[in-house]
Amino acid sequence: MAYDFDLFVIGAGSGGVRAARFAAGFGAKVAVAESRYLGGTCVNVGCVPKKLLVYGAHVADELEQAAGFGWTLEEGHFDWGTLIANKNREIERLNGIYRNLLVNSGVTLLTGHARITGAHEVEVEGQRYSAANILIATGGWPQVPDIPGKELAITSNEAFYLKDLPRRVLVVGGGYIAVEFAGIFQGLGADTCLLYRGDLFLRGFDGSVRTHLKEELEKRGMNLEFNADIQRIDKLDDGSLKATLKDGRVLLADCIFYATGRRPMLDNLGLENTGVELDPRGFIRVDAQYQTTEPSILAIGDVIGRVQLTPVALAEGMAVARRLFKPEQYRAVDYQNIPTAVFSQPPIGTVGLTEEQALAAGHKVQIFESRFRAMKLTLTDIQEKTLMKLVVDADTDKVLGCHMVGPDAGEIIQGLGIALKAGATKQQFDETIGVHPTAAEEFVTMRTVTR
Ligand code: FAD
Ligand code: NDP
Repeated sequence: MAYDFDLFVIGAGSGGVRAARFAAGFGAKVAVAESRYLGGTCVNVGCVPKKLLVYGAHVADELEQAAGFGWTLEEGHFDWGTLIANKNREIERLNGIYRNLLVNSGVTLLTGHARITGAHEVEVEGQRYSAANILIATGGWPQVPDIPGKELAITSNEAFYLKDLPRRVLVVGGGYIAVEFAGIFQGLGADTCLLYRGDLFLRGFDGSVRTHLKEELEKRGMNLEFNADIQRIDKLDDGSLKATLKDGRVLLADCIFYATGRRPMLDNLGLENTGVELDPRGFIRVDAQYQTTEPSILAIGDVIGRVQLTPVALAEGMAVARRLFKPEQYRAVDYQNIPTAVFSQPPIGTVGLTEEQALAAGHKVQIFESRFRAMKLTLTDIQEKTLMKLVVDADTDKVLGCHMVGPDAGEIIQGLGIALKAGATKQQFDETIGVHPTAAEEFVTMRTVTR
């Protein structure tokens, strides 16, 4: 049977755009439907605008350090409206670039909500299209626990478009988004409290990293409330928000920001018209090659709930395009040693196993750990410490994990990701000549086993 398209992609986000462009480049007839914004979460309400706000918040650090280097500055003034307007302009520019990328690669771009009406059929704006393959790349959506007053809270989606910088912010959650936005609000001058339900935030990250970041955030004056959870939110007559905690305590804020994870975006997608099954967490179930339980339908990115990162969605999109239209070039995505950064202030960079994971996997580990005050701070009064840590297999000398908290951690960890992928040993780290004077050289000069 002749179909309208070889591949119909639902969602023009990180994964969908990558799959569509490469599939079209391999000669396939491709359509993409997008209901909201070109570039998806990452470009519009994720990585990109987030990083721009992080840069904005970081200016406060630079201003604080300036005096040590002889600069006398007038009293600074921050204008949230200017930052948001400039950010919005940049996002619009990127939306245009994404449009050109798709159109110039020969992809048919359809604007509107896509609903699957059969194993080979999708409906957009009342029009039905047939396709040999359908790729679901619809991403995720913030999830807020069902508590009384939840409609008074905001999520990352709204935070990017707030009219004013709130004076007092309560950030709920202990994952990437909570920690990053707490840093943004605090850096830009809001009185910020981060509230997390467990003992210590960033579950799953290396223990030293979690403790170190906690200490550094406290030094910066952030209020951290662990083992705390909100029971209800009420609006007071003066417009303030009152959060009543499960332990009975009350916290007041002008903005309550929930970053408590993201659910797969499956709203009105029409999965009931297909044999697509979900996994126990509610994400789309796929096999190793991203095929769902309906053979003509594939899924990638946040909607499969594997690793919710843009470069992972890109890699999955590429794998699907190759598998379908260039099988001789197909390579499976390697989920080992994915480097990642949390753009907190100071940021975290991490790749490979944490100490806890290495021990749980049965490795005999050697830990190399270093804490130091970065050279840049020696002319200032700032007492922030950088943490670097290597987790090494004592039997094979292989470096299993690299972890850092400190300036430019994300930039530094990318290169170490290559070393780990190449299977580097501690001896090879030691034999690598450092770049002097940098903080990064500490990763090749740690000689004494800490534990
Ligand atoms: P998305 O990029 O979410 O794209 C899905 C697209 O599908 C959307 O455009 C949506 O409108 C569209 N869509 C949904 N349903 C339909 C439908 N039925 N019809 C038509 N279109 C539809 N990752 C990093 O690697 N680094 C970071 O620094 C980072 N920061 C982040 C910060 C925040 C605040 C958030 C929320 C996420 C961040 N992420 C980051 C995660 C990253 O954004 C996601 O992992 C990535 O965008 C997932 O790509 P995707 O293609 O799966 O989905
Ligand atoms: P995460 O899954 O990272 O964190 C969710 C947090 O919310 C956890 O601390 C979790 O606690 C807590 N939580 C979950 N449910 C509840 C609840 N009912 N009540 C109270 N707390 C709750 O999600 P995020 O929303 O922070 O981010 C989503 C994903 O987006 C990330 O996992 C990451 O993959 C990606 N991302 C990547 C970034 C980057 O690369 N820099 C930046 C931002 C996002 P607990 O740990 O106890 O379960």
